[in-house]
Amino acid sequence: MQKGTIGITTENIFPVIKKFLYSDHEIFLREIVSNAVDATQKLKTFASKGEFKGEMGDLTIHITLDKEAGTLTVSDRGIGMTADEIDKYINQIAFSGANDFLEKYKDDANAIIGHFGLGFYSSFMVADKVDIITRSYREEAQAVKWSCDGSPSFEIEDAEKDDRGTDIVLHISDDCKEFLENGKIKGLLEKYCRFLPVAVAFGKKTEWKDGKQQETDEDNVVNDTEPLWTKTPATLKDEDYKKFYRDLYPMSDEPLFWIHLNVDFPFHLTGVLYFPRIKNNLEMHRNKIQLYCNQVFVTDEVENIVPEFLTLLHGVIDSPDIPLNVSRSYLQSDANVKKISTYITKKVCDRLQSIFKNDRKEFEEKWDNLKLFIHYGMLSEQDFYEKANKFALLKDVEDKYFTYEEYKDLIKPTQTDKDGNLIYLYAADKDEQYSYIESAKAKGYSVLLMDGQLDAPLVGMLEQKFEKSRFCRVDGDVIDRLIQKDDIAKIELTAEETESITGVFTAEMPKLEKTEFHLEAESLGADAQPIVITQSEYMRRMKEMSRLQPGMSFYGEMPDMYNVVLNADHRLVKGVLEDVKVKLDAQLHSVEAELKGLNARRMAIEQTQKDKKADEITQEERDELTKCNNDISAQQDKKKQIFTEYAKTNEVIPQLIDLALLQNGLLKGEALTKFLKRSVDLIK
Ligand code: ADP
Repeated sequence: MQKGTIGITTENIFPVIKKFLYSDHEIFLREIVSNAVDATQKLKTFASKGEFKGEMGDLTIHITLDKEAGTLTVSDRGIGMTADEIDKYINQIAFSGANDFLEKYKDDANAIIGHFGLGFYSSFMVADKVDIITRSYREEAQAVKWSCDGSPSFEIEDAEKDDRGTDIVLHISDDCKEFLENGKIKGLLEKYCRFLPVAVAFGKKTEWKDGKQQETDEDNVVNDTEPLWTKTPATLKDEDYKKFYRDLYPMSDEPLFWIHLNVDFPFHLTGVLYFPRIKNNLEMHRNKIQLYCNQVFVTDEVENIVPEFLTLLHGVIDSPDIPLNVSRSYLQSDANVKKISTYITKKVCDRLQSIFKNDRKEFEEKWDNLKLFIHYGMLSEQDFYEKANKFALLKDVEDKYFTYEEYKDLIKPTQTDKDGNLIYLYAADKDEQYSYIESAKAKGYSVLLMDGQLDAPLVGMLEQKFEKSRFCRVDGDVIDRLIQKDDIAKIELTAEETESITGVFTAEMPKLEKTEFHLEAESLGADAQPIVITQSEYMRRMKEMSRLQPGMSFYGEMPDMYNVVLNADHRLVKGVLEDVKVKLDAQLHSVEAELKGLNARRMAIEQTQKDKKADEITQEERDELTKCNNDISAQQDKKKQIFTEYAKTNEVIPQLIDLALLQNGLLKGEALTKFLKRSVDLIK
């Protein structure tokens, strides 16, 4: 027997490995099993080159648990090792600055393992003793047994082993007993070894026999050695892709389409990416891409490897050229990773572009499920926007689809306002905004449907990108003010008429918490609604944004402000105005006359005080101005009073107001009940 010390400069690396890598320590199994795979693949290579002439036999890798002995063993029939090779590959771990490095990457097991080539040594994360019993594939090779108890010293001796290959025996430590559980190991194999290129067996297959599950003689192979992405696309059918997707994501809906990736230069990459159906809730779809390195599972967190929006895709990427064993933050600056990310983005664009070009109908059918993904990409990646704006679609309220270019051409003749701005009208809810959509349509305008989760930021972005264009929600204002044209001749109300009509309606507006109404009168046409309630686009957007961004809570605190537009052309509004004129003319006249006098007086006082310094103005003069101001307020209150008194007598006013409120979902509770009662009473 021979004894020696493993060539590490640090006193004892194993406790360090154990301590620092606690959270990730399950990857030991991946490391040990992939070593076994490598050794097996090497044997195949030697055989194909004629360097190995013996019998290959069954190359299945076996994983066995022995609960009593407390061991987990990984056995392969690969190339094995001679004593010299053990010395070279296992004993001599040369590295320097170990402590610094460990400190820096203490949370990242992959980084440490990769940096030191510590794959095999990761077994010490879960075992306090490891044996290697191995026999080289070379003829007449002497089998050897190597043991190490977790200190830097090891023992090596000749051993009995008839068969070629390696057994790695892990004596699982007391605090890691879970790795002796069948279920645990099954789960880990499922996660890390599912697509390894060499068969991996764990236990025996079971079958239902004599009323219970019984073990058969057949090995239970846990992996698919030729997963779909390693095959030639020409040999695959749609059903194969769909089946693979179902295997990967049993709970998901069928994918929309997929891309089979296959590059050899300037880097190696294979894989299949699926476009999932994303209706809403982006978060649910993240972290579904699995990253493999030569069919060994590495991670399902690919944020730094592909652009963020692509993390919404599902599927598999396999590349030996992604430096898997470095820290995540380093990945972003790696040249290969950048190339890979650009490549994938381009492939995704090309695929979408080609479906759009070759099968517009299919593309339109899938658009609603695809648009969140595309919008997310356009919002987050300028490069993607540049390409995607050729095939991204806009949908109108009649479910017709247009490209940005097509839509612009469609609305340009009709929806350009007097200042040359192109106005894109949109609705966020077809039912809620029905009447606004109808009035836009009546004008011959087109209305888009923007009801997606990302449509609000998208609208913001498109306004920046499109020249001289604005997006206006249909209920943002009355239609003639959303798209202002010169040519409409309108009957204007006089200032007094406007004041009267808004005055009597204001008196009857409900007092709602955190809600303000601003009334005005406009000619909207005899066929339009008598009252139209709108909410300014700007305020609405600010409030919507404030809900998403904490720094903007100021807007969230503001009351909801509505514009209430009285349609001066409507017969009912006209009727009210006529009635007001008849009934209130005399009263209003005297108040007006009074006010006129007071206003003139105030102007005169102000005129005399204008050129005086503050201390030259006498107390008497000050009092006079105050009194005048008070008198004016009193007269104004009187006018309000007149309106209020009147409004109580005219039952058309509350009825029209309630109808408008009802249309906007603002009539609730007691007010709604009163309205219903009043309406019933009106039926004669
Ligand atoms: P890496 O796999 O990154 O080279 P490891 O520490 O996992 O680093 O393994 C070191 C070396 O030990 C391997 O490169 C290989 O030469 C040898 N080795 C490990 N496991 C086996 C095995 N099961 N059969 C043959 N050789 C092995």
